[in-house]
Amino acid sequence: MSLRRLNVAVIGGGIGGLCLAQGLRRAGVPVTVYERDRTADSRLQGFRLNIDPAGSLALHACLPPALWELLVATAGDPGPGISFLDERMRPLVRIGRNDREPDPLDPTTGRHAVSRVTLRRLLLAGLDDVVRFGKECTGFTPTDDGTVTATFADGTTATADVLVAADGAGSRVWAQLHPAAGRATLPATAVAGKLFLTEDTRRWLPQRLLAGMNVFWPPRDFLFTAIFHRREAPASIAARLGDRVRELGLDPDRLLADAHDDDYVLWAFIAHRDSLPADFTPKAQADPAAVRELLARRTAGWHPDLRRLLADSTPDTLYQTEFSAAVPLRPWQTGNVTGLGDAVHHMPPVGGLGGNTALRDAHRLCAALTAADRGDMPLRQALHAYEAEMLRHGFRTVREVVRNTGAAIARSPVRRSASRWFFRACGAVPPLGRAVFGEH
Ligand SMILES: Cc1cc2nc3c(=O)[nH]c(=O)nc-3n(C[C@H](O)[C@H](O)[C@H](O)COP(=O)(O)OP(=O)(O)OC[C@H]3O[C@@H](n4cnc5c(N)ncnc54)[C@H](O)[C@@H]3O)c2cc1C
Repeated sequence: MSLRRLNVAVIGGGIGGLCLAQGLRRAGVPVTVYERDRTADSRLQGFRLNIDPAGSLALHACLPPALWELLVATAGDPGPGISFLDERMRPLVRIGRNDREPDPLDPTTGRHAVSRVTLRRLLLAGLDDVVRFGKECTGFTPTDDGTVTATFADGTTATADVLVAADGAGSRVWAQLHPAAGRATLPATAVAGKLFLTEDTRRWLPQRLLAGMNVFWPPRDFLFTAIFHRREAPASIAARLGDRVRELGLDPDRLLADAHDDDYVLWAFIAHRDSLPADFTPKAQADPAAVRELLARRTAGWHPDLRRLLADSTPDTLYQTEFSAAVPLRPWQTGNVTGLGDAVHHMPPVGGLGGNTALRDAHRLCAALTAADRGDMPLRQALHAYEAEMLRHGFRTVREVVRNTGAAIARSPVRRSASRWFFRACGAVPPLGRAVFGEH
């Protein structure tokens, strides 16, 4: 048994950093999170996040059980699988479960469309004494006694046994540890938006867009749609789970305060940057008129309901971004500074894997640090095993996402027709579809 508890400092209170902090707190390992944002409410916007079984397993393991159930209740069911269609909404192939509804609380199969705002609120729950806001890390220094000291923009410092870079894409901590780390820009530009579900929009939206996730594969460009429709109303959740949340010393009404935002259809349009006008570049605030004008031109000939989905979306939900991906790193000698999530293996949001990979890392790093804290394994050995697996899995996922992004924005007419033909063949011949996509 070790005589002294491990002391862990996490830089960055995003999805991965907070999940790690929840897990360490649950395991009784001392942890402090240093977050650049000034307050917990600094970011109260964002699109839904699709949580897959890897993310579900991590959240289930790290959150107290009542918070996990609250998360599942406030989330939406992302629906049965993904449909691939052409731009006229003609089906090409459908991937994923088609049959019975799995138990949403079972983390091994759980898929959840979660609101980023609610997820953040739940990940912060009970961590008032753990998370320090307004702490922008500027670097770190190893100390002679084997600990590490982080420095912050406000002139303060913090010393810990282990420092975790969870500060997202463009991580300061990771760049200091690995000067060769970096990101490659991909030639893809994305525009996303939300169409809120009202009596009127429900009337004209086709059933296809109101259920599950869809990928549209036109002769050029790419469109993804997904529905965000909460499973349960906040009042009913509070009545059902309120007492268990109060037993944790938490206020269910406060945790559910953000769970009232409206249901919507999310869409993301992706195009090859070189095929767009040169002045169509990401701006802090997307210009709705320019976005609408561009989309109207690019989608001429598409199904009218798809065009209306894009045209009628709420202007202040429009979001424009360019894609980049982390460049692979060579293995290194493990020390007491490690990393997780986007800080190490940032990837484009195609396929919704970045957050899930960050949660997966957090789960595994939590297990490694807990084993070291209990004296079950030397710290360096536990961290080395975590890093080897995290790197392998993280960069394999980056490669897969970069490949899929390349296919989505491909401009060669031959390549586009070949992929449409291939999807159609997979849809028409179920054994081929199963061989290519697994469950089908
Ligand atoms: C439009 C969009 C849609 C997406 N959809 C999905 C999806 O459906 N499913 C999915 O799995 N993923 C999705 N992703 C990706 C996902 O959001 C990221 O992969 C995920 O947030 C990474 O988590 P993280 O904890 O590593 O980093 P982050 O969540 O980015 O957190 C990093 C934190 O560190 C803080 N920070 C930064 N620098 C410092 C500093 N110097 N000092 C202190 N704090 C600092 C930041 O303020 C932030 O809070 C999407 C991304 C985008 C852009």
